[in-house]
Amino acid sequence: MKTRMEWEAYADSLSINGQAFVNGEYIPAESGETFDCLSPVDGRLLTKVASCGEDDADKAVKNARETFSSGVWAHLPPAERKKVMIRFADLIEQHSDELALLETLDMGKPIRYSKAVDVFGAARAIRWSGEAVDKIYDELAPTPHNEIGMVTREPVGVVAAIVPWNFPMLMACWKLGPALASGNSVVLKPSEKSPLTAIRLAQIAVEAGIPKGVLNVLPGYGNTVGQALALHMDVDTLVFTGSTKIAKQLMIYAGQSNMKRVWLEAGGKSPNIVFADAPDLKAAAASAASAIAFNQGEVCTAGSRLLVEASIKDTFIDLVVEELKSWHPGHPLDPESQNGAVVDGDQLATVLRYIESGKQEGAALVHGGEQVMESTGGFYVAPTVFSNVNNNMVIAREEIFGPVLSVISFDTAEEAVAIANDTDYGLAASVWTSDISKAHKTSRDLRSGMVWVNHYDGGDMTAPFGGYKQSGNGRDKSLHAFDKYTEIKATWIAL
Ligand code: NAD
Repeated sequence: MKTRMEWEAYADSLSINGQAFVNGEYIPAESGETFDCLSPVDGRLLTKVASCGEDDADKAVKNARETFSSGVWAHLPPAERKKVMIRFADLIEQHSDELALLETLDMGKPIRYSKAVDVFGAARAIRWSGEAVDKIYDELAPTPHNEIGMVTREPVGVVAAIVPWNFPMLMACWKLGPALASGNSVVLKPSEKSPLTAIRLAQIAVEAGIPKGVLNVLPGYGNTVGQALALHMDVDTLVFTGSTKIAKQLMIYAGQSNMKRVWLEAGGKSPNIVFADAPDLKAAAASAASAIAFNQGEVCTAGSRLLVEASIKDTFIDLVVEELKSWHPGHPLDPESQNGAVVDGDQLATVLRYIESGKQEGAALVHGGEQVMESTGGFYVAPTVFSNVNNNMVIAREEIFGPVLSVISFDTAEEAVAIANDTDYGLAASVWTSDISKAHKTSRDLRSGMVWVNHYDGGDMTAPFGGYKQSGNGRDKSLHAFDKYTEIKATWIAL
């Protein structure tokens, strides 16, 4: 790993592209408009980014449709698409320093995680989907002797993918992996807060052999180019990761336009339940600290509600606070930093507003609670812990998307499950206990798409990722993700 000085020198020498990518070429927005891409690390201007709109959406979708219909990608044998996807993953890894640096400068996360989690995770997602695609079989129905019923999966056609800023490249690649491997053409819209890695990735895809026009990238705002894609009459499927508020809006847009399929990965307010009989309280506390502080708390699965059995509450909070000391923010380009900058000034203000709300509603602030490192010109906040929270307080109900932990105590397993499920969301949950029956029973009773036992945030590409209730529908990762990108066709043949 490079030193901070080496990363800073690399950053100074980096040439950053902010253009759209359509039909294999970098181009400005049709309107010529741009917006400033500022770094949350220190407020510096990184580049000007094309501010795409409806005309750009029309152009990119038309191109994606033509490319799809030509069969240049969709009709390649799966084993050939697999080879290209694996080359794409290899090239992402070969450019890992550049991509990690872009991610850190653009959205503020520590460089060690940009590289280990975002870049290598993105490469794994592309490779896994590529490797899977020539192993997924179609079906023959149990038909009579004089008929054959075939059930085949076919690519949906043109996919629009709208992604958030917290794991910009990783969330994009969770979509691009199965979307491209299945033979679709894609128009990707990164968040206006973190467009840079998506823009760079498009060219790497072409270098890998993905035909021009199969992957297009349109940077810009949600209410301009995002809305245009969501309302577009020639987009077959819209896949989204982002807030529940915008997810609901996208369902409306689909109904107002062509009833495109809409798959949504949205927000969370995940409970992390620690019973007094947890096998190792110190390990549970280390995990609870990272569950709220990792990625500055900007994680959909953040363990933002810590439910602790009353008999160990005070001991456990002390252990968590001790662990959080190593998560104090540092310079994101310092390879030792565990915690970096939040994405921008607006997000910092949101986090600070929630901290005020916690105080006003009578929760007890036991750690953090303030902005730090102001002199950098960037946006940093100390990991924050509130105890004596009840589940009706705003800080227990709303997704803060920052490092703010609400500690709630309970007396029985039934009470823990009732509190855990008393939320609009249902993305993830965790249970810490040495009692195998209690672990299974509690896991079954939790209304969430992912449950972890005696750790937090486990899983790899083999495990489906997504939520119940207002956390969304469908799943990313695993073979289940292919459901989003394929239509099922029944062909019945009389012999
Ligand atoms: P957001 O909903 O504000 O924006 C997400 C994307 O939608 C961005 O690209 C944005 O430009 C676009 N958008 C905004 N308005 C739009 C509109 N009217 N039409 C079309 N597109 C529009 O979310 P965010 O702040 O970027 O990301 C944080 C959210 O993402 C959190 O709620 C978090 O929980 C969620 N998230 C979920 C998962 C998951 O897998 N469930 C993973 C990561 C993040």
